Amino acid sequence: MAVPKRRTSKTKKNMRRTHFKIEAPGMTTCENCGEMKLAHHVCKSCGHYKGKDVVGE
Ligand SMILES: [Zn+2]
Repeated sequence: MAVPKRRTSKTKKNMRRTHFKIEAPGMTTCENCGEMKLAHHVCKSCGHYKGKDVVGE
């Protein structure tokens, strides 16, 4: 069986792991209130979407 010749360096290990850091995909921060919200969805806390208030209340 093939065995690695040398131990993977911290740098190489971290470079590989840059790709599995996102826990909740599609989550962004609201540009109006800064709360976490789902991408392409109206913000639940302030009702803003694409920079304007779309919940007319
Ligand atoms: Zn918001």
